[in-house]
Amino acid sequence: MRIVALAGGIGGARFLRGLREAIGPEDEITVIGNTGDDIHLYGLKVCPDLDTLMYTLGGGIHEEQGWGRADETWSIKAEMKEYGIGPEWFGLGDRDFATHLVRSQMLTAGYTLSQVTEALCVRWKPGVRLLPMSDDRVETHVRITDENGTRAVHFQEYWVRLHAAVDAEAIIPVGADTAKPAPGVLEAVAAADVILLPPSNPVVSIGTILAVPGIRAALTAAPAPVVGLSPIIGGAPVRGMADKVLAAVGVEATAAAVALDYGSELLDGWLVDTADEAAVAAVEADGIACRAVPLLMTDVAATAEMARAALTLAEQVRA
Ligand code: GDP
Ligand code: CA
Repeated sequence: MRIVALAGGIGGARFLRGLREAIGPEDEITVIGNTGDDIHLYGLKVCPDLDTLMYTLGGGIHEEQGWGRADETWSIKAEMKEYGIGPEWFGLGDRDFATHLVRSQMLTAGYTLSQVTEALCVRWKPGVRLLPMSDDRVETHVRITDENGTRAVHFQEYWVRLHAAVDAEAIIPVGADTAKPAPGVLEAVAAADVILLPPSNPVVSIGTILAVPGIRAALTAAPAPVVGLSPIIGGAPVRGMADKVLAAVGVEATAAAVALDYGSELLDGWLVDTADEAAVAAVEADGIACRAVPLLMTDVAATAEMARAALTLAEQVRA
């Protein structure tokens, strides 16, 4: 079985760790990772979601935090601060710095982001084929209004520095409109037996991937069933600011509203948490097969159960 999954950072990575447990030795997983969170810092290219996927699946993640390296130290950041060089709000540890140095060195030498990601994965052995959504630069910006007026800030600034405390007025995936899917992305989608949307952020993770011209069309045209899992439980994101960015695109933060926003053209199946059992009828009324199962990724075993439920639903909706 060839499984393709679109993924952001923490929600995507944790789900994939469960999916990897749920499949057989012959099955393979291709992950299309969001690069809209990418940011250039200290002259280095940082790819937060690709790195969270790589570190989580490769055993190097800081478990509690969900991002960055385990056993991290912070000497470089402290030295940069002595020079008065920030940003102080972005956490780049010493071990993490090495990843960004390797990536930036290879990009400067002329390799593409796909090639760099493949090279980094030689070390991390994530057990999946990890593809960036695009080799072209895409950076999500968020329009906000605060005491400095109305302006767009980088998504990382919105989330990490401002903690999503101000309302997001619009989400702009800068560069997405002219970006091309990375090599292998459209081919993997077309050849997939199952396509999964993990419980990643529907706007700034999955939404950004779908904003790359050709990717949404490839998913809707693919013969494989597309099954998603809700990142919203009981009317709130399990973690993060999905409610803020959903509001910016005019979508209610409920499991049903997110499914209807993806739409029945894209989604064949949708899993909601048992707490949202009442949403099943509304989703099915829109032509999307829906089941309520436990969706909290408390550990790998519970997450593998979620992955099995998604694969089972995919079999049921397969035309
Ligand atoms: P990010 O890039 O690090 O923000 O990660 P993703 O976009 O991949 O995932 C973020 C989403 O994961 C958030 O909207 C959360 O609500 C969701 N999430 C986190 N933990 C869980 C969980 O245990 N269950 C479910 N259903 N969603 C979760
Ligand atoms: Ca992210």
